[in-house]
Amino acid sequence: MIGGDAVIGIDVGGTSITVDLVELTGRSLFTATRPTLRGADALDGVLSQLAAAREAARDLGTSVLGVGVLSPGHVDEGGGVVRFASNLEWRELDLQARIRAATGGTVPVLLGHDVRWAGIAEGALGAAAGLEDYALVSVGTGIAACLVSGGHVLSGAAGSAGEFGHATVFPGGDLCACGRTGCVDTYASGAALLRRYRALGGARELHDVIELLATLSEDPVAAQVWDEGLEALARGLCTLTLTMDPGTIVFAGGISGAGEALTGPLRCLLEEQLLWKATPELAISPLGASTGRAGAVLLALTAAERRHRAQAWDAGTVEAWTRAEGRTAVPA
Ligand SMILES: [Zn+2]
Repeated sequence: MIGGDAVIGIDVGGTSITVDLVELTGRSLFTATRPTLRGADALDGVLSQLAAAREAARDLGTSVLGVGVLSPGHVDEGGGVVRFASNLEWRELDLQARIRAATGGTVPVLLGHDVRWAGIAEGALGAAAGLEDYALVSVGTGIAACLVSGGHVLSGAAGSAGEFGHATVFPGGDLCACGRTGCVDTYASGAALLRRYRALGGARELHDVIELLATLSEDPVAAQVWDEGLEALARGLCTLTLTMDPGTIVFAGGISGAGEALTGPLRCLLEEQLLWKATPELAISPLGASTGRAGAVLLALTAAERRHRAQAWDAGTVEAWTRAEGRTAVPA
């Protein structure tokens, strides 16, 4: 038995749902990942992950003080409702109330937008720690940014600030899932890079962006798709930079694994396009693919009114969670 207090963070992504049971000290007690299904099945997946973490807490004699859940799409944080998440096929889903009901109404629960909270996590624990003006750009299944200006996270009138992935960068270009054409997302997201590689006749069986990058020198189709993706991203980031003037742009999500292969060429393209304006610092998130998980746990701490406990955490705290994959019991 461990005893003590913990929180539960649930990060609902387009491809997987990850749950973390984390002590207030930052130590991981339990984590599990499952594939994301669609519609009601996606909701069942979230509730199963919650149940697994609560069961682990019971086995360890640990009290759960708060739950934070992150969703992609258009999220009404104040109302606790996912208005629309296209990848999950959710519309007007009262996710916060559903989760609270699943705990028997005994635990405070907060719902947050995935990229917004990834950005908050980056500012608390990652590459933007101590910064007041930055953008966290998440490039995974889709593309979106969390914009922080003067230390304030910009939400926008409809709660959808930062959706620069749907800015047109190639007019008349490929049709995007959003209904427009030539969006940044259609050329530079992880899903788009793989789709375009196949559409342009790429012969290899590629599963992610890192595999695509590994073939650049010998596969001209891969090189073309990557170059066009970088150009689309640079055009989108040029507009974003001229609009909000971030000192630093931090990359998270699957593409962040590309490291300097991403930031190097992107820096050159931005310098060409920005001309008179200095290019922001470009950084890779030290939280890697775990920015969403970190955001979900910070939101859970907020729900528990224990947010101050994260002041003692850093990127290493989150990195240790990734080594606890699927663990159901921790020695005291
Ligand atoms: Zn679009």
